[in-house]
Amino acid sequence: MDDCIFCRIVEGSIPCRKIYEDGEFLAFHDLKPQAPVHFLVIPKKHIPGMMELESADAPLMGRLLDKARELAAELGCAETGARFVINCKADGGQTVNHIHCHVLGGRSLGWPPG
Ligand code: 5GP
Ligand code: ZN
Repeated sequence: MDDCIFCRIVEGSIPCRKIYEDGEFLAFHDLKPQAPVHFLVIPKKHIPGMMELESADAPLMGRLLDKARELAAELGCAETGARFVINCKADGGQTVNHIHCHVLGGRSLGWPPG
């Protein structure tokens, strides 16, 4: 999608600090990190968000979570843990309408969110 920031990152016209890429996924550091570790894992396929997922996307999202876990461990969160977050629409605080999983770690995070 032309007007989607994350699609433009996938195609390379907007730069990112890439952590991982394969045929299906891209992972990159968040522009405004909220923790010492804060990266995003996105499918290359443009899916606007959680509410637009179809049941057929379940295997893709399973692989996305598996990749998020693997990368979190590589970035030092295996023992101390991390938070894996998918914000959805206005109430969920979603600002980029291309589904993405935040991975935050490297410090203790508060709960519940404000
Ligand atoms: P959301 O609020 O939709 O859950 O998260 C969007 C995230 O994308 C935010 O944490 C924001 O900092 C990040 N972000 C927005 N634009 C860019 C960008 O151009 N590059 C990178 N690396 N992150 C971005
Ligand atoms: Zn997109």
